Amino acid sequence: MEKHHKFSLWYVVLAIWGVLIVHNIFATAVAVQTIPYSRFLNLLKENKISEVAITANEIHGRMRADDKSGDKGELFRTVRVDPEISQLLEDHNVVFKGEIESTFFRDLLSWILPVFFFVGIWYFMMKRIQGQQQGFMTLGKNKAKIYVEDEVGVTFTDVAGVEEAKQELVEVIDFLKTPERFTAIGGKVPRGILLVGPPGTGKTLLAKAVAGESGVPFFSMSGSEFVEMFVGLGAARVRDLFAQAKQKAPCIIFIDELDALGKARGFGTMGGHDEREQTLNQLLVELDGFDAQVGVILMAATNRPEILDPALLRPGRFDRQVLVDRPDKSGREAILKVHLKNVQAVDDLDVEKIAAMTPGMVGADLANLVNEAALLAVRRGKQKVGMSEFQEAVERLVAGLEKKNRLINPEEKKIVAYHEVGHALVAMTLPGTDPVQKITIIPRGIAALGYTMQVPTEDRFLMRKTELLNKIATLLGGRAAEEIVFDDISTGAHNDLSKASDIARSMIKQYGMSDTMGQVYHGSSQRSLFLQPGMEGPPEYSQATAERIDNEVREIIQKQYQVAKKILEERRELLEKSTQKLLHQETIAGDELKALAEEIKA
Ligand code: ADP
Ligand code: MG
Ligand code: ZN
Repeated sequence: MEKHHKFSLWYVVLAIWGVLIVHNIFATAVAVQTIPYSRFLNLLKENKISEVAITANEIHGRMRADDKSGDKGELFRTVRVDPEISQLLEDHNVVFKGEIESTFFRDLLSWILPVFFFVGIWYFMMKRIQGQQQGFMTLGKNKAKIYVEDEVGVTFTDVAGVEEAKQELVEVIDFLKTPERFTAIGGKVPRGILLVGPPGTGKTLLAKAVAGESGVPFFSMSGSEFVEMFVGLGAARVRDLFAQAKQKAPCIIFIDELDALGKARGFGTMGGHDEREQTLNQLLVELDGFDAQVGVILMAATNRPEILDPALLRPGRFDRQVLVDRPDKSGREAILKVHLKNVQAVDDLDVEKIAAMTPGMVGADLANLVNEAALLAVRRGKQKVGMSEFQEAVERLVAGLEKKNRLINPEEKKIVAYHEVGHALVAMTLPGTDPVQKITIIPRGIAALGYTMQVPTEDRFLMRKTELLNKIATLLGGRAAEEIVFDDISTGAHNDLSKASDIARSMIKQYGMSDTMGQVYHGSSQRSLFLQPGMEGPPEYSQATAERIDNEVREIIQKQYQVAKKILEERRELLEKSTQKLLHQETIAGDELKALAEEIKA
């Protein structure tokens, strides 16, 4: 389409150009001299004019030829001055006629050409605008078309670790495969399904898999795509999307990142959300308007269900919510296996162990991890990806990229080493902390100068109070070691302090673990479903309570700091020896640390 348009425009330009040239040649080939009217009169009186043609404004004609040459006379023209010259012409024996001026070329030049010129400019500008802002001429029609995928190459086997969500979606697939069966019984079919879960857990993938499993067309659009520059376009797009989907039923309409479009109305009054509101209203209209019997299933995904407009979640709209949660250890193992299919890994790769190293990671992280490990193997010239690559990839993902060549001065290095060993020894001593896997003073990323890697042995859903306290002590172990050894402290602990304070604050505010404040929940009214920081509403307690919370937090931190300090003071020799070893080797494995401890005890 586009190509063709461009060509036809060029034809027009070429044609005009051609006409101009022909006209020019015609005009120059037959030389016409323009003469003053007075000269014309003189010539006339001297009988030198043979014939003329008179138009409203001009006289053009031919002079009498010399008798010697056989040529016809020269052509001339002049601007007509007196209105009455026919008598004079007759007197001098001139053949004359009146003529209606042919204005074709002049019209072409003065009228048609500029029109073409402006049309051309307009056309190119439109093309420009179209390039930036797709679909100006087509008013939102094209976009949905692009997003129809008739063949989605994704099936349920590509999505792992979200078994519950899959089970809930099986019914949808059944319906899409044989809608008659459902409609014959008259049963209520699912209509709007909202996939809810943290980013990267596979919501988009799951929606595609539903389409792939049921073999129906998949209309997919992201919520942000509906929000357009021009008011009303988003709504038009929604209308168009639903109209197209109905023609292709049974099919799936999937709106990704629904929150971009479905934010509660009046949320954030930055102005200019009129367009979004209109689009949302149109979506609600379409949701109500369509008959589920047609066989169009509506799916949407969001990671922020709490900010969605409640109207979207009302019965008959997105009334069924499917939670796509972070995978647990076995789930991570399954996801890793899916992605390992695409890489050459050693046969005895311990996938379970990798899964154990990656708590909290979601599907997207794990896909990234496998890729990172494969890249490492390539860089190391290996044929297959092994455990060591995975170990390094995990570390990279967790703590940023290893930067071996970053220089730290020896004094700083010493502080970092004591600090990290401080963490490790406290962790090793206190019960219920994750075992230390390794300590390193190789700087990673921008923030962390050193790093103590603790690997949880299992996924935890519950934590006891003592465990949380021990965790705080471990976090404070770094600074405690610095104070013991140097009698001075550094800025290197700010990350530890913020984590420790977070834990302490949650213990008091959310878990009711304070001795003096009782089992009261001090959260805020509008909690984020996934505990995203900064998403809290106003507090629901008094200023006095806030003060008490602050005091309690401070008390917990101070107490745990003393615990850490005591542990390290009692193990001063081990602290020294391990630090020397760490400074020497740059990394110490957890086992080495244990061996050192045994050695000193003996
Ligand atoms: P979301 O939409 O929830 O943010 P995506 O579906 O876009 O997450 O996931 C991004 C990528 O991460 C997918 O393309 C896939 O490679 C990987 N991934 C995420 N979750 C899973 C899963 N459960 N199983 C397999 N791969 C997954
Ligand atoms: Mg997504
Ligand atoms: Zn630290």
